[in-house]
Amino acid sequence: MKDFFDVTLSELEAICSPFPAQHVKTLFRSAYKDYSREPWLTPGLPRELSQKFAAEYICNRAEIYQESVSRYDGTVKFLVRLEDGALIESVLMPEKHRITLCVSSQVGCAQACSFCHTGRMGLKRQLTAGEIIAQVMLARAWVRSHPEWREERGFGPRLTVGNIVFMGMGEPLDNVEALKRSLQVLCEPIGPGFSLRKISVSTAGHLDGIKNLLEAFPKVSLALSLHATNNRERSQLMPINRRWPIAEVVDYLKEFYKDQDDRSVLIQYTVIAGVNDTEAQAQGIVDLLKGLPVKINIIPLNVVGPSQFKGPEPESLERFRQYLYECGMRVMVRYSKGQDIDAACGQLVVQHEKQQATSAIGL
Ligand code: SF4
Repeated sequence: MKDFFDVTLSELEAICSPFPAQHVKTLFRSAYKDYSREPWLTPGLPRELSQKFAAEYICNRAEIYQESVSRYDGTVKFLVRLEDGALIESVLMPEKHRITLCVSSQVGCAQACSFCHTGRMGLKRQLTAGEIIAQVMLARAWVRSHPEWREERGFGPRLTVGNIVFMGMGEPLDNVEALKRSLQVLCEPIGPGFSLRKISVSTAGHLDGIKNLLEAFPKVSLALSLHATNNRERSQLMPINRRWPIAEVVDYLKEFYKDQDDRSVLIQYTVIAGVNDTEAQAQGIVDLLKGLPVKINIIPLNVVGPSQFKGPEPESLERFRQYLYECGMRVMVRYSKGQDIDAACGQLVVQHEKQQATSAIGL
């Protein structure tokens, strides 16, 4: 069976031809606006068309397997189970007037960043575009069916997930074709209707993927995980730096963003005590990013379980922030959301796998 969520609007038009365009719109709208899992049963569709889709397609191959709601900030972490039993994570983050969803792009990740839970899993497989979109539709349906969660945060009945960040499991640009296909569907006005500017793709510095993505979707927002600025230190933390040294990535971005007045790149810098938190390293950020419009989020490392790394003391984090601020950088400290529900990338899946292994060997 094919996945309806994998199909773009123009492909759907070709599949439905020679039926009139209004039926294509009905199908698309029913799946994305009315959350129907069998959009081909919508009244008014020609029987032949309904039968064709019922025989060949399913709509949404994923389900919410587990959900945890943070008592502190209302963040919701979903473990999503895919058709083959693989588990991925998505995180719903309520903010003041908006709801953002962090989605996964791969099962696991090949990049092996040394501080990351997902990196330790290795890459299990790529997600399809349909599986990326399914995370968004599951989260929107969850928001719709949880009025108490919305009311607690003062959200009206019509507010839903309006922002997406590709910061969950995986390096999205290692799966760039599925990523681009998902963007095409997500931004379809008669479908999910997202604005490209409200979608951020985060990368560890995959230069080929950045070029490919920005060529197809120049308006999408880009986030770059920096974490270190000199090659020796960065390659230790993020092996991707050996393939694409950070200066090459930043040079490309400076060129790309030089004519884009109102745009900036979000820089994420996880501060790790004794590893990347000195004034000299803060100066390295200033030097590297000079000439690139950026906003910097510095995030204290949130350590869960045994780790060779430690988060910074509050005073040293503040010193680091202050240094960047005094150098004229736009900088904010961000804390991981949903700390009581293990919302950092990869934690829940790793925990779940450990539990499964433990029960399999009868412990
Ligand atoms: S930080 Fe991102 S790119 Fe690095 S291993 Fe984790 S998921 Fe992959």
